[in-house]
Amino acid sequence: EKKNPNESEFLQSVREVAEIVIPFIEENPKYKGSNILHRMVEPERVIMFRVPWVDTDGRIQVNRGYRVQFSSSIGPYKGGLRFHPTVNLSVLKFLGFEQIFKNALTTLPLGGAKGGSDFDPKEKTNGEVMRFCQSFMTELHRHISKYTDIPAGDIGVGKREIGYLFGQYKRLENEFTGVLTGKDLNWGGSLIRPEATGYGTVYFLIEMLNTANDSFKDKRVAISGSGNVAQYAAEKILELEGKVVTVSDSSGYIYASDGLTKDHLAFMMELKNEARGRVSEMADKFEELTFYEGEASWNAPCDIDVAIPCATQNELTEEDAKKLIEKGVTYVGEGANMPCTTEAVYQFQDHKVLFAPGKAANAGGVAASGLEMAQNALRLSWEREKVEEKLLYIMKNIHSQCVRYGKTESGEVDYVKGANIAGFVKVADAMLDQGAV
Ligand code: NDP
Repeated sequence: EKKNPNESEFLQSVREVAEIVIPFIEENPKYKGSNILHRMVEPERVIMFRVPWVDTDGRIQVNRGYRVQFSSSIGPYKGGLRFHPTVNLSVLKFLGFEQIFKNALTTLPLGGAKGGSDFDPKEKTNGEVMRFCQSFMTELHRHISKYTDIPAGDIGVGKREIGYLFGQYKRLENEFTGVLTGKDLNWGGSLIRPEATGYGTVYFLIEMLNTANDSFKDKRVAISGSGNVAQYAAEKILELEGKVVTVSDSSGYIYASDGLTKDHLAFMMELKNEARGRVSEMADKFEELTFYEGEASWNAPCDIDVAIPCATQNELTEEDAKKLIEKGVTYVGEGANMPCTTEAVYQFQDHKVLFAPGKAANAGGVAASGLEMAQNALRLSWEREKVEEKLLYIMKNIHSQCVRYGKTESGEVDYVKGANIAGFVKVADAMLDQGAV
């Protein structure tokens, strides 16, 4: 805390890991005496830079760019770029730190990183977004390559931004390589990458439900967010005959008492991905939907069986957790990164709600990115079925690792413990092999 003042999100994520890993280190002499956790919480490298760009009125604007290259113990740095006004060093260090464990769980050779900027792509013209991305990449390109660091998208960085970033990298380096993931299919992207985080979260939840001989059929599912992760989590749940009763954005939430239909979902995808509108417009279009301004999905006026927070960090508080428990929630899977506060997680655990942390549940996105890198290296494009089959296999494997390291004496699974220890063991073993790095 003394070393990293004002980094509350980073400290929160480190505390959550340390609480579990320190007792494990104490029990396992192999990890003692090598200062392994202290080394792990220090990023290998942090890059901060100025991003000047010209707006439509010809004025020069300036934002701050970052890349936190946290760990390269098991593979090149890998993690998304976030463009959002709330981005700061603390947020990116927390995301980079989480990414180390998540990437280790995927079983793929991927290190951990995160980056981005406090630039807000909302209400900017395409030209402004392009000029910002070009300026951002003009500095970033020196620090990344297909062998050292392979960024991807995150909040505010979708297909459009990845396109502009890739175009500028190619121009500067004069090479067409898989240096970014989340690319369009046309020029090196992978099938299933857009769906992977949302689908993967639901695959992970299916495994959790299976352990209780349960299924998604007729389950009432509350989702927050309406972006990439939320959209495809909702799509998969509809396929499994579950009822998605809420989605949201930063202005409020949409309530669907009978569950969203395919038409509602198609409208939402068009609205969010193309028109870049607000979820409230869903209620303008469909009279059976209600918009609750300024409220979170967890306030839905109905019972809720499954909650999938897919928006942003710390969006589900202790109070929200209590509300969900009262509504009967039995499963929670984090589609976003650290969307539940520490106190909310304790509430779920104390009330025997099965809770899956983001580093396990939402690892499908980075796993598919790893598959995109493999295809780029081979200069091949795999069929949809092949990628989806691999994704499903990876999510099942992550679930098994959580069970292996998280099974308690009473036979229940502590997914938080399981995910953290499984990730730690893989990275720590590599660090021990590689010496004082
Ligand atoms: P998007 O930018 O596509 O969507 C983000 C969604 O969250 C939008 O609906 C946004 O609403 C909403 N949101 C953002 N901030 C808030 C807030 N303070 N309150 C309520 N809603 C909010 O991002 P993604 O779907 O890609 O990412 C969502 C989460 O999932 C992030 O935590 C991300 O790190 C994580 N994640 C994403 C992966 C991916 O592959 N995309 C992989 C693994 C994790 P609005 O439009 O109003 O801003």
